[in-house]
Amino acid sequence: MDESLIELEISKTFSLQKSNSIRLRESTSDYRIKQLENLLDWIKTHLDDIRKAIHADFKKPYSEIDISEIFTVTSEIKYVIKNLNDWMEPKKVSRSLALLGTSSYIQYEPKGTSLIIAPWNYPFNLAIGPLVSALAAGCTAIIKPSEMTPHASALIRRMIEELYEPDTVAVFEGEVEISQYLLSKPFDHIFFTGSPNVGKIIMKAAAENLSSVTLELGGKSPAIIDKDVDLLDAASKVIWGKFVNCGQTCIAPDYVLVHQDIQLPFVNALNDEITKMYNPKNKGIEHSNDYARIVNDKHLVRLNSLLSDAISKGAKVEFGGKINVNENFFEPTILTEVSENMDVLNEEIFGPILPIVNYVDIHEAIRFVNSKPKPLALYVFSNNENSINTILNKTSSGGAVTNDCVIHFLHHELPFGGINNSGIGKAHGHHGFLAFSNEKAVLKQRVGLTSSKSLYPPYGFTGKKI
Ligand code: NAD
Repeated sequence: MDESLIELEISKTFSLQKSNSIRLRESTSDYRIKQLENLLDWIKTHLDDIRKAIHADFKKPYSEIDISEIFTVTSEIKYVIKNLNDWMEPKKVSRSLALLGTSSYIQYEPKGTSLIIAPWNYPFNLAIGPLVSALAAGCTAIIKPSEMTPHASALIRRMIEELYEPDTVAVFEGEVEISQYLLSKPFDHIFFTGSPNVGKIIMKAAAENLSSVTLELGGKSPAIIDKDVDLLDAASKVIWGKFVNCGQTCIAPDYVLVHQDIQLPFVNALNDEITKMYNPKNKGIEHSNDYARIVNDKHLVRLNSLLSDAISKGAKVEFGGKINVNENFFEPTILTEVSENMDVLNEEIFGPILPIVNYVDIHEAIRFVNSKPKPLALYVFSNNENSINTILNKTSSGGAVTNDCVIHFLHHELPFGGINNSGIGKAHGHHGFLAFSNEKAVLKQRVGLTSSKSLYPPYGFTGKKI
């Protein structure tokens, strides 16, 4: 479609949603639950379509699609349906002595119109997960899926068109220009998932309309391996967390900090785990159906230049390094002897390269983490509660997991999100509902009653009561 026609279509849809959002202020939990049930039914009856679309985009293995794209969304919908009545209920707050005679409560009203801008790496989950929160809160939504995963984007559009009227939920596919045009509209809330650099653009655009934002961003999430650790357990969990989705996961361990005394056995254990998971029959990882591809040429080139930069500056390839340009294949790659002047230790890797940095003392590892922007996730592998607590208390990150990685994404009751460079605001479950809700403070005064005449002039207040 011609660009100006799309802009016209966006403006029309935005106006429709603006009007509908006023009606939706009074939507009941039954109405919202019905919308969520319809979404759940559609997903359940189109599992194969969803799998095929995502697989077509970057050969993501079907099992990974089931767990990380479909189950994450269906379990979120079920959890929200179960709890929505309770979340929507106004919450009474205790009486205030200074305001005797009044009663107060918090009312959860929908923010109104929302814009959801999604990335490509979990194209279904990260577009539809926020939609579940928006519908639960009673908001309308326009979704802008990523242009990098066109099959998933088309499927999302088809699903939304089959399920909802455009005054409630609509999809606009396309490149950055579409996103920019959408951002010129005065949405009540913008939920963005993507890179920190684009996050800044989103926040600037939101500032023009004072739209509230949830920014789910990225960064360099560390995995710290203590000297006192179960090596095999840690190695297998780090390998899974790093190479699921071919390393293209916002909460994948970006790099590992390992105690120098155990670096050698740990690297050996990592290498063994890669072979066990992706090459058990020794046919070559390239032939594994359990390993996804890099999303496009641009990212393959970017990752290749990260690797070349590291090697040219002295990094040692302990595993992998093989690339097949025709297939967008990038082998799981482990690097040691990395140093701070290498791009792999400065840029978010977002691909299957795992640099290993060693440390002598846990405080050195903590200083390393604290020298970088606050990460989205931090992982600690240790048998020692003191080491774990020291690291958790002396570092700051959006989330943290001990003796595992990535799985906190699946916990509906944990707020999911980053801090500063890795994000602003939280998602999932009740936290997602709150992100799309205005917590309206309501105070009810009785007619004819004034809590304190001393509030009004002429003032007799002496300050003695402070
Ligand atoms: P991206 O920031 O390049 O793009 C995300 C979305 O923003 C896309 O829909 C894109 O079309 C749009 N966009 C891009 N440039 C824009 C601009 N100038 N103006 C307006 N819109 C624009 O991110 P990506 O490459 O799709 O995803 C990878 C990044 O997302 C990584 O940094 C990763 O860590 C992060 N991420 C974070 C989470 C999370 O939950 N915190 C989840 C997944 C990915």
